Amino acid sequence: MKRGLKIAIFVLAIILAGFMLSLASTESSNNSILKSRYFSSGSNASQDMISVPAPSEKAYEFRMNTVAVWSVKLIMGFAVPMFFLFSGLSAGIRSWVAGKFKRRFLIIALYCTAFSALSYIIYLPIDFYSGFIRLHSYGLSGQTPGSWFSDSLKMLVMDVVFNTIIVWFCYTVMTKAPKRCWQYIAIAALPFYILMYYISPIFIDPLFNQYTPLKDKALEQEIQSQLHRASINNCCLLESDMSSRTNQMNAYMTGIFGSKRIVLWDTTIKGLTTNEILNVTAHEAGHYVMGHVWKSILVNCIIVLVGAFAVIKSSSWVLSQAGNSMGFVKLHDIASLPLLIIMINLVLFISAPASNAITRYTEREADRFALELTQNNRAAARMLIKMHYRSLSIPQSGIVYRLWACDHPELQERVDFANSYRPWER
Ligand SMILES: [Zn+2]
Repeated sequence: MKRGLKIAIFVLAIILAGFMLSLASTESSNNSILKSRYFSSGSNASQDMISVPAPSEKAYEFRMNTVAVWSVKLIMGFAVPMFFLFSGLSAGIRSWVAGKFKRRFLIIALYCTAFSALSYIIYLPIDFYSGFIRLHSYGLSGQTPGSWFSDSLKMLVMDVVFNTIIVWFCYTVMTKAPKRCWQYIAIAALPFYILMYYISPIFIDPLFNQYTPLKDKALEQEIQSQLHRASINNCCLLESDMSSRTNQMNAYMTGIFGSKRIVLWDTTIKGLTTNEILNVTAHEAGHYVMGHVWKSILVNCIIVLVGAFAVIKSSSWVLSQAGNSMGFVKLHDIASLPLLIIMINLVLFISAPASNAITRYTEREADRFALELTQNNRAAARMLIKMHYRSLSIPQSGIVYRLWACDHPELQERVDFANSYRPWER
């Protein structure tokens, strides 16, 4: 291994350590600031204004716990693939598979299966802690261990299937067109995203949850007539049985063409008043009308275009520096997959503030659309507070957390906007 690569690994370690330290310290001082700013139980400031009540002590603790889990996962995102590379494990899996099979697709499929299965085992303790133990200890989940393991095994199978297809395509173009492969990968991203956005709501989501028409027909009628006012006719409106997994509330708009739909978690229907639910669905109608799914496909394609170029170029540089220390010398050798994963994780880490800023913008647009449609500011503000506080969110985050983790505007900002945005009163 040449000196340049050793320096690059050292610099990466310093940057990650600095990031985690600044994340923990800004979040901790943000908590102190919030504790002095929010101390009332949130009595209404005036007839028309809804004030954000003080978050619970549990919410502050949960945020610091989230920061700790995130830091561990961030480190693992680089350390685990490095372990695969420098222990010789990746090259070992490739040699073992290539010794048994000759067809390239089979070699890639079996490598991906072994890689995903081993990664699943390595990540299992932190995934089980973050997705099960801590959510139960903070009262956010009622899921049984059997249901959690069933979900995680289904996700493992999906990982293997989709990773095999994506990896096979990428390594084929890397073999056949090493110089322009990043362009072909970016071109293929568009039909891939369109296909995934189309099939996910119909074929993938139902593997995890049941989606049924709204049981409350009067509510369904009210939502449909509201959607009709937003020029959305015959919208597919579904509820999902998330109460078997979580106490949190959510709703979302997904799909394209015939799979377009608005989904309400049953916890949302149970936890909010009709006017508050109408504000949630008006927000989702905003995403629907403003074509936010298509805009996110476009943004993802741009990230793939820039990302694929950066990943291929930086991986080639690492390979030129590493000699044979990783057990392979060509990038199109499937044993290089962990190297590509390190670079993908680095690109995602660097681009997170920009991609979060874009989604925060679309979320603000949807909030504005919802207020114009419902003109019910109080219900909008109450809904936001209920939904955020059910998930143990805090009203505002520290700067590092906000830039890297917030894909929605912060609660205080959204409530301020809900309180003040009244263009129809002018
Ligand atoms: Zn939204």
